[in-house]
Amino acid sequence: MTAISNKVINRLTLYHCLLKYTCKGNSFIASSKIADLLDLDDSLVRKDIALCGVLGHKKQGYVVAELKKSIEQKLGFSDRKEVFIIGAGRLGTALIHYADFKDYGIDILALFDNNPNKIGKEEGGKRIISLEKLPNLISRINIKNIILTVPPYAAQEVTDYAVKYGVRFIWNFTPTVLKVPKSVTVYNENVISSFMQMQNSKNK
Ligand code: ATP
Repeated sequence: MTAISNKVINRLTLYHCLLKYTCKGNSFIASSKIADLLDLDDSLVRKDIALCGVLGHKKQGYVVAELKKSIEQKLGFSDRKEVFIIGAGRLGTALIHYADFKDYGIDILALFDNNPNKIGKEEGGKRIISLEKLPNLISRINIKNIILTVPPYAAQEVTDYAVKYGVRFIWNFTPTVLKVPKSVTVYNENVISSFMQMQNSKNK
């Protein structure tokens, strides 16, 4: 994927959701319609779509199926992205049950935990494995991505361990600021910040 900004990725993902659900039955869609539905500028929508190499048809707009597919290709939805979840608590197990991940190529292979009462059990059809086995599995399957759903007090220690054995991308659902080497990318999924931003926009 050629480098595009996170803001563009965010908007393209939203366009894709519109095409996949809201405009499912339509053959064509105009950029102005997408702009209206998402409260964006029409020219910005057209610029984003041009990045996907799709051309609109005069008066009718874009072919929905073609635009949807082009966004999928641009964002690499069909590329398989193998992931481990570390922390098989309520959040980790909720994520393993989120069926839509598959549509985006996100393949959660297993959950890891250090609680002996959970190890060996299955959740969402995936095995809960002892964290001690992480290094071996990372080297065998060459996993680079983890979803981190351990409690805050364990987050840094588990991160250091995972990074030591080769993890390079961490989707961090814990409310902790993780220290990692430059070669490692952390994306913080801060649900509190999202809620505060929502409240803030209501006050405008
Ligand atoms: P539950 O009460 O079922 O454990 P929870 O979501 O309230 O669920 P948390 O305390 O948030 O649990 O912990 C999330 C998960 O992380 C738990 O399954 C816990 O056993 C696991 N966990 C805690 N510390 C570690 C660690 N150092 N390594 C791996 N897993 C851990």
